[in-house]
Amino acid sequence: MRPFIFDSAATPQEAIETAQAWSGGTHGVAHFLAGGTTLIDLMKLDVMRPERLIDINALGSSDFGRIVFGEGGLWMGALARMADAAEHPQINREFPAIAQSLRLAASQQIRNMASLGGNVLQRTRCPYFRDVSYRECNKRNPGSGCAALDGFSRSHAVLGTSDQCIASYPGDLAQALVALDAMVDVAGPSGLRRMPFAELHRQPQSQPEIETVLQPGELIMSFFVPAAPWARRSVFLKVRDRESYEFALASAVVGLDLNDGMVRDARIALGGVATVPWRAAAAEAVLKGTVLDEAAQDAAARAAFSGAHAREHNGFKIELGKRTLKRAIAQAAVMEI
Ligand SMILES: Cc1cc2nc3c(=O)[nH]c(=O)nc-3n(C[C@H](O)[C@H](O)[C@H](O)COP(=O)(O)OP(=O)(O)OC[C@H]3O[C@@H](n4cnc5c(N)ncnc54)[C@H](O)[C@@H]3O)c2cc1C
Ligand code: SF4
Repeated sequence: MRPFIFDSAATPQEAIETAQAWSGGTHGVAHFLAGGTTLIDLMKLDVMRPERLIDINALGSSDFGRIVFGEGGLWMGALARMADAAEHPQINREFPAIAQSLRLAASQQIRNMASLGGNVLQRTRCPYFRDVSYRECNKRNPGSGCAALDGFSRSHAVLGTSDQCIASYPGDLAQALVALDAMVDVAGPSGLRRMPFAELHRQPQSQPEIETVLQPGELIMSFFVPAAPWARRSVFLKVRDRESYEFALASAVVGLDLNDGMVRDARIALGGVATVPWRAAAAEAVLKGTVLDEAAQDAAARAAFSGAHAREHNGFKIELGKRTLKRAIAQAAVMEI
């Protein structure tokens, strides 16, 4: 491991100012340290090389670490632990897809340690990204090429790809947040801003190394998820190579607002198959106003993957993703709420 400076911040302001001051000029990169379950791994692999780490765990006793049901919905502090949100009775009742996305992620030990903010910012599991003996990786080494394009692409994305990067986004929670219209609060050198969570992640396009719209020194403070009929009737379904402790090959979040078997409104997001947490708006539009029969589910699945592009080894994800989505729709339809 390379040497780095270690700091601990007592307030969000202190964390932001330290990170901003360090990230400019001749300094290298500063990173916040939450649970460390991604960042420390990537430092040991020499993939991430922060020169300064700012431990934000002392901020956990404030709203930054809390889960609160307030006016109009659910607030989750960015430093709340995955396990606390996964096991929260009210989240399980009113936002089941959020609880399920967390319960099916990683292992109990990791969930005890890992934060929600760190979870949504985790980086791809593309094997070429995580192994520095491969020089060609535009995300890790901009302009070097992409070893996955003609390499082993089984785990890679089929939606939102570019000719520079086809890495899939690995997290699970983000799909639930995207589907349920969550907002994210970000604090930075110029104050607090709120944006739709769906705008946080960037598709790779010509700059795969830039993964989010966060600026240097910006700290995710919290997530807000509005209460809604489709949030109560929501499902997260994950398909993977083994039943636990594994990332998704394909996942789907489906939220439905039903009236007598007719879909009043729908929310759909896909994971494991896309470069970013993927909102499937075309599939939602197909379902809206229809009776939920087999034909409607087929049509929604086709719409969700209409723009998919496969490489040599990941073509199976298109069919798998469609089946996963159809199963999730069917499960959401029969949920007792
Ligand atoms: C073996 C294994 C299996 C896993 N399986 C899954 C899985 O199936 N599904 C899944 O979703 N995840 C999975 N994970 C990933 C795991 O959930 C993440 O490692 C974890 O959520 C990261 O949270 P953290 O608090 O430890 O983040 P850290 O490692 O502390 O931080 C990650 C990144 O986020 C930044 N950061 C953290 N908090 C903030 C903030 N508030 N504002 C701005 N930047 C911030 C850090 O600077 C860093 O760059 C797995 C991990 C492992 C090791
Ligand atoms: S897919 Fe992306 S992360 Fe993987 S090697 Fe190519 S550029 Fe790197």
